[in-house]
Amino acid sequence: MPGAAEREGRLSVEDRTGLDSYEFGGADFIRVDTAVCAGCDTRPCLYVCPAKVYKEDGARNLVYNPEGCMELGACVIVCRHIGKGAITWSYPDGGKGISYHYG
Ligand code: SF4
Repeated sequence: MPGAAEREGRLSVEDRTGLDSYEFGGADFIRVDTAVCAGCDTRPCLYVCPAKVYKEDGARNLVYNPEGCMELGACVIVCRHIGKGAITWSYPDGGKGISYHYG
């Protein structure tokens, strides 16, 4: 069933983000200390990232892939153990990363 945006001829959020372009600038701009994550019970990073940078593997270990990061910084805001250095985040070098084209 189409959502309200589709019924009214507007682009959905997924369609809008599909217009963005991305140039991968290397994985180092996000580093996660997954040993710290092992003690994190609620893992809000799994739910706030629209690019799905953070996931769990079959053994519930936190895994991450910075490629596709939309540079919102939401993971840093919600991280339960940022004070323990769970996430170290900065913008990609040299203008690489996400380029927004709509909205
Ligand atoms: S919220 Fe922070 S500490 Fe918890 S799993 Fe995500 S990155 Fe790791």
